[in-house]
Amino acid sequence: MDARTQVPTRLRPVGPWPGGLSRKLADYVVTKSVRARNTRPLVSFTFDDVPETAFIHGARVLEDRGVRGTFYVAGGLTGTIEAERRLATAAECVALHRRGHELGCHTFTHPVIQTLDADALTAELDRNRDFFASLLPDLTLENFCYPYGIASLSRKLQAQARFHSCRGCKPGINFGTIDLGMLKAVPIEQATEPAAIEAVLDETVRRNGWLVLFTHDVAPQPTWIGCTPQVLDRIVAAALDRGCEVVTVRDALRRIGAG
Ligand SMILES: [Zn+2]
Repeated sequence: MDARTQVPTRLRPVGPWPGGLSRKLADYVVTKSVRARNTRPLVSFTFDDVPETAFIHGARVLEDRGVRGTFYVAGGLTGTIEAERRLATAAECVALHRRGHELGCHTFTHPVIQTLDADALTAELDRNRDFFASLLPDLTLENFCYPYGIASLSRKLQAQARFHSCRGCKPGINFGTIDLGMLKAVPIEQATEPAAIEAVLDETVRRNGWLVLFTHDVAPQPTWIGCTPQVLDRIVAAALDRGCEVVTVRDALRRIGAG
């Protein structure tokens, strides 16, 4: 992700980092493979960080269609106000959970985990686990998303040992032998043409795959990494019209035989 002026501060990683090879290895070396056994094509809508508008509009769009999403939350960002956006509060995260959405882990402070050593990543994950345990004692954060979609091979191995799945930002459809250590995901951004996502949905149906979509804010005037409620709704409807099962990441893992 490059440093564009409209990028919310939290989403503008500073770089470059050493270890570009390790990052590529993390993307391309399959480290936690599962052979997908889903009987229907699957689509998961996921939201990162998450902005308050994803709670207000994103969750509602899904609920109005009778489906639920996965929200990857960094506990340390909850309730914070950045120059370009306001993040969902802890109470709003609790509400998401109670309304049937899945809360996933996105670290606590949203670092580039490639820059962390093993102990520092453990501390990030423990802190986020403890934060949510204080809000919802019965909640387990089962699935993880790499901040900025970036990992090194060693941090990937570490994360995948703690979570059922880890999502990146490498675009593509998950089908056949799936790497649960680095799930592929397709962005829905301000500039995304819904027709382009509909073409990916057609391909998902052809391959009987699992398409994981991700966005950030969902607002009438989204940032460049967000989308409008109308676009999100059109894509949800397109997935359902094609006979895809729209499920959380947690439920999709059960459908492919990994949960
Ligand atoms: Zn993020």
